Amino acid sequence: MGAPSTRAADRALARPRRRAVAAAAALVALVAVGAGALLDLRTPAPRAADAPAGEFSAARAYGHVEVVAARTHVAGSPANDQVRAHVEGTLRGLGLETEVQDTVAPEAGQLSGAAGGATLARVRNVVARLPGTDPTGRVFLVAHYDSVQSGPGGNDDAAGTSAILEVARALTAGPRPRNDIVFVLTDAEEACLCGAAAFASSHPLAADGGVVLNLEARGSTGPVIMFETSRNNAALVDVFGRAAPHPVGTSFAVEIYRALPNDTDFTAFLDADFVGLNSAYIDGGAIYHTPLDTAAALDRASLQHHGDNALGLAREFGRVDLTALDSGHDATYFPVPGGLVRYPGWLILPLALLALAAVVALGWLARRRGRATGGGLAAGFGLALLPIVVAPLAAQLLWAAITALRPGYAELLDPYRPTWYRLAVLALAAAVLFAWYALTRRRVGPAALAIGGLGWLAVLGVLLAVLVPGGAYLVTLPALAGALAGLAALSTRIDGPWPVVATTLSAAVAVLILLPTVVLLFPALGMAMGGVAALVAVLLGLAALPVLDLLHPRAGGQRGLVALRARRLGALPAVATTLAAVVLAGVGLAVDRFDAAHPAPTHLMYALDAGTGQARWLSHEEDPQPWTDGYVDGVTEVTDFPGLGDAELRAGPAQAADLPAPKVQVVADTTAGGERTLRLWLVPQRPVRLATLHVDAATATVLRAEVAGRPVPVEAREGRWGFGVVFHAPPSAGVELTLTVAPKAERVALRAMDASDGLDGLPGFRPRPPGVGVVGSHSSEMLAVARTYPL
Ligand SMILES: [Zn+2]
Repeated sequence: MGAPSTRAADRALARPRRRAVAAAAALVALVAVGAGALLDLRTPAPRAADAPAGEFSAARAYGHVEVVAARTHVAGSPANDQVRAHVEGTLRGLGLETEVQDTVAPEAGQLSGAAGGATLARVRNVVARLPGTDPTGRVFLVAHYDSVQSGPGGNDDAAGTSAILEVARALTAGPRPRNDIVFVLTDAEEACLCGAAAFASSHPLAADGGVVLNLEARGSTGPVIMFETSRNNAALVDVFGRAAPHPVGTSFAVEIYRALPNDTDFTAFLDADFVGLNSAYIDGGAIYHTPLDTAAALDRASLQHHGDNALGLAREFGRVDLTALDSGHDATYFPVPGGLVRYPGWLILPLALLALAAVVALGWLARRRGRATGGGLAAGFGLALLPIVVAPLAAQLLWAAITALRPGYAELLDPYRPTWYRLAVLALAAAVLFAWYALTRRRVGPAALAIGGLGWLAVLGVLLAVLVPGGAYLVTLPALAGALAGLAALSTRIDGPWPVVATTLSAAVAVLILLPTVVLLFPALGMAMGGVAALVAVLLGLAALPVLDLLHPRAGGQRGLVALRARRLGALPAVATTLAAVVLAGVGLAVDRFDAAHPAPTHLMYALDAGTGQARWLSHEEDPQPWTDGYVDGVTEVTDFPGLGDAELRAGPAQAADLPAPKVQVVADTTAGGERTLRLWLVPQRPVRLATLHVDAATATVLRAEVAGRPVPVEAREGRWGFGVVFHAPPSAGVELTLTVAPKAERVALRAMDASDGLDGLPGFRPRPPGVGVVGSHSSEMLAVARTYPL
């Protein structure tokens, strides 16, 4: 576009050889920066068992992992008692004041959140204290020692539990810290975060709040990411940046996590006004909550990363004045090689506006210099939206196609070997960008398109600054760098190779910020949301457009055959990346097949009505695997098992097992002033993970309710079972409930249900063949028995 320039730089790049050299040099520089950024995300080498006493050793911590994750140990189970005994014994053995908090607690947050009704659990937290020399407050190291019902939790959260035991050992081996350090190994996190809620709301050591460091795992490998903070995190993040040996964390992750439905124990602490940091490793998500989450599946380098950071942070938070941690604002932060960049939240909007102003100034200067027309700039801005929209869509379509070919992926957080698919998405994003560029470059011109791309980055930066402030840096800083480089390149003062140097530097800023984001987004969101990574990849491409332009023949000036050849060459990157996307997706399908070590996940439950003798197989699978198809047919709404929630399930007939429903024993039954008060015991007749009780809304309205002596909210839910209680890890003696109701019928109908785990031994159940696995979910392999009691 525009008049052919006579400037030296243009003349230099007009020669294909010089242009190729410039392109190669710029790309080598960017690849080096990208490699540096990715190496910075690497996990540290695991330290051996004979590492110095003051250091964290993954080998020593792994010894605990093997004990904690020896078996599945769901809250309330005898296996969990053994894990608790090991944790308690280890902490006591270090000379720490250690106790078990044994209580009944509601779930974190509001009581009525769960599908089945008000949720509580009997919990037993292990709490140990290392008293400080001159405390300004308390530091809490938190992980949950229980596992899900469907696997031994080798990572989730034997990793966190074992890391804390090893950190406790390292801390007690050194001089005592100034502040109290409290080790809290919680129970029933998987059920309802009830252990953490019990500690945060009612333990004496929690009365004054403090700093919580929560350690989690949602996968089996990868760097430990500090992904969640309390509000006003600037001072906390500052400690994280200087005291964690390998600080990987971004203010963007915090924003993403706040938007996701996930919860950890950390939520319970935030509800109780603690401050703190939440960290987890999240790659290798295929095994999350499955029987494959074993001790052997744990990556010791991730464990070392967890421990190094936890120990560094415990020492620093143990040293600083904890009364000065509320900074009044959130910080923006992200990792770069050698540390954590951070700046205060009040800078976010001014920076975003500055970036926008710089891009506008660049457009103005490009017009003045004859590099673009007003119309060209408008076209460039409009057209730059295309790849931003198309690349994520294409990535989502690609994954939809792959999932259609391999339906088992729908039930996995991520494939077992996702790398090929991730590369396919990146190649696809690149293909969209290159194709778009090849089609628009000649007509609109490189300058207008580059400025248009920066324009979108800057506009998104302002939008994010207002809506998602912690994420604004992702686009604001590359836009600002790109605009400044463009202004420099167009200024008459710099010449020769310097414009290429300037644009390469600004592209390096984009690579430094956006490449780690792309790489971390894949495991964070899973392939099913690969479009988000594709979007960020395209933004990176737009920020680096002037460098990518060097891969194309010089714009303008060619005629006839030369122009034709140039156009063909211009299509080359698009063709190559499209081909790469197809090949990579194909390799992914060939490499990541389901087999005995990487089984196709299936979901099955069994529900028996002990009153009617009717039994059913139930599954959450939307598109059932062949194995599941042997049990279930059509979709049904399951209404007579309110403890399973209100979900639509696939169901099929099953033989009735000889299993007892929980008993409802009436201790007292009094009526006064139109209100009937029932004092009941709900008593499971077999070892179970949870028990539920629901009241038929057609027979009574519940006015007040107490569970184990604690009032619970009674607001009625939609449907037949208006009021309900879910009690996890019920004692074998049962759970005491007091219901005060306004009767609507002569008899009040109560539905009692309990659930254990494991389908082996049920009539008609055929164990899974090799290659068929279990979906990682809180209802996998659940065996529910229910009965209606008219009282
Ligand atoms: Zn979990």
